[in-house]
Amino acid sequence: MQFEDAYKEVYEIVKPKYKLFTAGPVACFPEVLEIMKVQMFSHRAKEYKQMHVDTVERLKKFLEVEKGEVLLFPSSGTGVMEASIRNGISKKGKVLVTIIGAFGKRYKQVVESNGRTAITLEYEPGKAVKPEDLDEILKKNPDVEAVTITYNETSTGVLNPLPELAKVAKEHDKLVFVDAVSAMGGADIKFTKWGIDVVFGSSQKAFGVPPGLAIGAFSERFIEIANKAEEKGWYFDVPRYIKVQNEKQGPPSTPAMPQEFGLNVVLRIIEKMGGKEKWLAMYKKRSEMIRNGVKDIGLEILAEPGYESPTITAVLTPEGIKGDQVYNAMRERGFELAKGYGEGIKEKTFRIGNMGYMTSEDIQEMLKNLKEVIDELKAKI
Ligand SMILES: *Cc1c(COP(=O)(O)O)cnc(C)c1O
Repeated sequence: MQFEDAYKEVYEIVKPKYKLFTAGPVACFPEVLEIMKVQMFSHRAKEYKQMHVDTVERLKKFLEVEKGEVLLFPSSGTGVMEASIRNGISKKGKVLVTIIGAFGKRYKQVVESNGRTAITLEYEPGKAVKPEDLDEILKKNPDVEAVTITYNETSTGVLNPLPELAKVAKEHDKLVFVDAVSAMGGADIKFTKWGIDVVFGSSQKAFGVPPGLAIGAFSERFIEIANKAEEKGWYFDVPRYIKVQNEKQGPPSTPAMPQEFGLNVVLRIIEKMGGKEKWLAMYKKRSEMIRNGVKDIGLEILAEPGYESPTITAVLTPEGIKGDQVYNAMRERGFELAKGYGEGIKEKTFRIGNMGYMTSEDIQEMLKNLKEVIDELKAKI
């Protein structure tokens, strides 16, 4: 390397200093980082096309997309949130946004900033959406075109009962849009069986790939609606994406090639680990270890019992201790957790993610340090 100094100057700033238990970006498998170093080439070359087709096929299998399309966007996950509204909801059309935390609120903003109308079904932090409430509000609002659901609410560590909620929405013949950004890769998704119309995720969460790539799956019904939609913009025009993918085995604009290659490596790692069930069991086990460890320390979890997230845990701090204090003290010990996030809970929670590359030993070590940190902070009250 001729300009090694340039590299070193940047490396000094960004070099890894912490064990990550973040909400994303998360730590990546070394195999993923290794493939992302390859020299670039044209995205219209046959080697890229081969990779793209293979990645889409593997994702269809992982997400159980039997009917519909999987697309890869060079954006973060929120891009596909916007795509769902612009392609799937008529001008000024009405959307029922279910809100159990900060990311449900974002969906509402996306609906409204695109000139559509949002009505909401909202719960206090820690709670999940209940199917009977959804049924009731849909009975009262027959003109709703779609229901949005945050599968895993990253701000509160709650996993919504997606199959049950999608079933209710389908009984009312509504479109089902699912923000699965912190769930995809960490919780099961049976796209066609559950009757989902749009589901999206991001590379930098439970797949453990660097940020910059969004994954979206779209049902046949959604695509039919999108084909007729007006003024859906250019960048997130779903029918255009499908047409170009069929003709050129890639997206209309330049893809996030390194991230796609990294994601392909992860999908192969999943296969080599024994498949989706084994991989998801690993996530469940990690999150259980964290919840049990946190309870052993004497701390409480925000999520209501039965709806705990397999990818992130929001922990309530003891009286007199702020979430940021725990976050900062853990950082000093070399562990990066996630700060509390969202109205009303930011101060009194911190979060422990278990997405991406980590071992059981890492989790044990983190919990041991967390216990010491809590003891130290308690002694100072
Ligand atoms: C992280 C996250 C988002 C935002 O994803 P981006 O990739 O940053 O756009 C949206 N929803 C949920 C549930 C998330 O966890």
